[in-house]
Amino acid sequence: MDFTLEIYKKLLKSLLIQDYAFLTFNDFLNSNKKKSMVLRHDVDLLPNNSLRFAKIQAELDIKGSYYFRAVPESWDEGIIKETASLGHEVGYHYENMDTCNGDVDKAWDDFRLHLDKLRKLVDVKTICMHGSPRSKFDNKDIWKKFDYRTLDIIGEPYYDVDFDKVFYLTDTGRRWDGWKSSVRDKVPQQTEWVKQGLVFHSTNDIIQASNANQLPDNIMFTMHPQRWSDGGFQWLKELILQNLKNEIKKYLVK
Ligand SMILES: [Zn+2]
Repeated sequence: MDFTLEIYKKLLKSLLIQDYAFLTFNDFLNSNKKKSMVLRHDVDLLPNNSLRFAKIQAELDIKGSYYFRAVPESWDEGIIKETASLGHEVGYHYENMDTCNGDVDKAWDDFRLHLDKLRKLVDVKTICMHGSPRSKFDNKDIWKKFDYRTLDIIGEPYYDVDFDKVFYLTDTGRRWDGWKSSVRDKVPQQTEWVKQGLVFHSTNDIIQASNANQLPDNIMFTMHPQRWSDGGFQWLKELILQNLKNEIKKYLVK
């Protein structure tokens, strides 16, 4: 069984042995470590799952970045504050072009409103786009007209990470090579990485590469904690739903 908390812990431990500095995205942008690891979490839904991740990391003295959406299925103020108090970074997982039906001025107002709301709870320095495959809007389009830096935001992974220098791994589609069928969660360098053999399917594949010291020095992981669970019914449900979604996405990408 993959995508269980058990295997997640194994992954973190294997990365710890390799001496990566685990940095929040904010710290990553301000540092120049030779070996660094950013654990980014998109809290699309089930914030309790992301809190479990946050606690596991805190036990191992690891820091990560957690991006919450301004929708009821993600936005849990208790969990947002607890995540920050465990030493993690919290950011805004924005989707304003989507919720404002493509009206960029409305989206900008909506963005600032929710950023301010989040900043009443925690310090926010970075943001990250939510990319719904079903939406016809690209949430990044808001930055064709406006600039998040004017709001004292220093980073958005899609703009502020040089993926020529940072290897990117995402659990999109509930596997590690699912970006091929992803509509928006991809970076151009991935095809080059495949040629270099840097392509992984299961979490165990990554653990093995880590143990053999074959992973690049700088890595950003994107994880969706709702896809990870203790096994049992929720695990099975996620497996079945995700397989179905992958089929639909394949169709959308074509
Ligand atoms: Zn998302």
